[in-house]
Amino acid sequence: FLLINHPLDCPICDQGGECDLQDQAMGYGRDDSRYLENKRAVEEKYMGPLIKTVMTRCIQCTRCVRFITEVAGVPEIGLISRGEDVEITTYLDKAVTSELSANVIDLCPVGALTSKPYAFNARPWELKKTESVDVMDALGSAIRVDSRGPAVLRVLPRLNEEINEEWISDKTRYAVDGLSRQRLDRTFVRKGGRLQPASWGEAFDLIAEKVKATRGELIGVIAGDLQDAESMKAAKDLFTALGSANIDCRQDGMALGGGQRESWLMNSTIAGVEEADVILLVGTNPRLEAPVFNARLRKRWAAGALRVGVIGEQADLTYKYDYLGEGPATLSGLTRAKNDFVKALKEAKAPAIIVGAGALSREDGQAVLAAAAAVAKSFGMTWNVLHTAASRVGGLDLGFVPGEGGKTARDMVQPGALDVLFLLGADEIDARGSDAFKVYLGTHGDNGAHAADVILPGAAYTEKDGLYVNTEGRVQFGYRAVFPKGEAREDWSVFRALSDRLGATLPYDTLAQLRAKLFDDHPTFGQIDYAPGAAGAAVDFAALGAKGDLAEAPFESPVKAFHLTNPIARASVTMAECAAVVSGAAKIAAE
Ligand code: SF4
Ligand code: SF4
Repeated sequence: FLLINHPLDCPICDQGGECDLQDQAMGYGRDDSRYLENKRAVEEKYMGPLIKTVMTRCIQCTRCVRFITEVAGVPEIGLISRGEDVEITTYLDKAVTSELSANVIDLCPVGALTSKPYAFNARPWELKKTESVDVMDALGSAIRVDSRGPAVLRVLPRLNEEINEEWISDKTRYAVDGLSRQRLDRTFVRKGGRLQPASWGEAFDLIAEKVKATRGELIGVIAGDLQDAESMKAAKDLFTALGSANIDCRQDGMALGGGQRESWLMNSTIAGVEEADVILLVGTNPRLEAPVFNARLRKRWAAGALRVGVIGEQADLTYKYDYLGEGPATLSGLTRAKNDFVKALKEAKAPAIIVGAGALSREDGQAVLAAAAAVAKSFGMTWNVLHTAASRVGGLDLGFVPGEGGKTARDMVQPGALDVLFLLGADEIDARGSDAFKVYLGTHGDNGAHAADVILPGAAYTEKDGLYVNTEGRVQFGYRAVFPKGEAREDWSVFRALSDRLGATLPYDTLAQLRAKLFDDHPTFGQIDYAPGAAGAAVDFAALGAKGDLAEAPFESPVKAFHLTNPIARASVTMAECAAVVSGAAKIAAE
């Protein structure tokens, strides 16, 4: 019956080779049909830039409908008509707006819903499959990177019940076409105001000249949001050896770091939030900042076991919540407030607070941190920080923050602050105002490269082995799927080579030696795939933040455009199409 209306499309079907129905048909071994009726044809449907439809192949299992409605929480796909005429469609032929929409491609058992950007690109048996971790947000979702030759062709989710279950966000899946666009594949040096191609030797000579002409306290390094721990460790060791305390991994100016590790972790753990019964979200929009995590919150809410309160943006989170207010005044007044949510908080058995990067990255971040800590302490809540940068917890864990008398990232980009500024994949901070000599080590011709005087080409996350620590403090290995582009090198090895030229040779020659030093100096990195989960441990709330004036400005999520949050995503054509669809839909809604 499944086959009664199914076309004989296997040779031209993108599901061929990984199709449940094809496998069944192969298993049963029949190659002819006993049905004589005409086959039915169904028109293709528009579902946006990510999902290609060939609806004649649909077997009406309704998995896609259940996923979009129940897991993603955006009821935009449905089954219309009855009997012979039944069809899967988006309502009014709209694009699906969920940040998780492309998961329907994986769960469609046939080739009815397939990947539009990947259409006719490759067959599964041609691909090299590399298991790795995602860097598009701070969850560290388990992924499989499929590549052919030098090109990454697609990213698929791997099952990891502790983190992403079996889902990934659309950005994780589809930003990878950005890995082959606007890439920095050779060194550049600015001459006469223009960036000109140069050799590694020329670039290193110029950097050495500038560094030797100044003092340690006038050089600094800022690490970006996609960095592996090894590259940050090498950068930290080099700049410390050069006598600099100007080291920072917090491009956004986040008010965390340098204290108790639990203060910057999601102590409930990602899977552990399913134990919480009341959650307060402060200055975060998890739907945009970590869509897969948001689906987990929705799962708990849909089971009727979770009450959510929000202080910050009043956004569509795909579940209902108590909206408490927009800014710090609501937060600091919460312990005195008398409303239903506060009553629920007082009665809760496992309450938790989730503080977003947006709340802690403001000018008054320290005061917000202190206010949030006071609320958490007063209601006995588990302390959780939802980061947005994949590198942030790793950076904080290895102390990639200013040392004694050191400048923060925000201070380092001020005019006159430094003589030499090193941007390690730092594209989310505006360094154009800095009059320092700027070196950019990274992957894309994005903000950092535009500001730079010397560009050194680095390796993207799919092009190097590296360690990443997710928002719950879980250390995970990322693996190389393809080689770095052109003359690019793995970032840690660039620091190793540069250290020789600067007369401050780093004490490791291989990645294994670097890792051994990393594990020695910072033992938490040795606890691979382990989330500490300090729900019962004492977070020292009194030590968090600093008393100060809270500003009146409302909390805002740092993620304004979900599809364009990092240089890889900004180089991606697919992400640009998605961003255009979302902003078009927002315009129509506003009108
Ligand atoms: Fe063949 Fe599967 Fe595609 Fe159907 S969905 S045409 S069985 S590969
Ligand atoms: Fe049809 Fe695929 Fe949806 Fe199942 S998951 S109803 S086969 S489109």
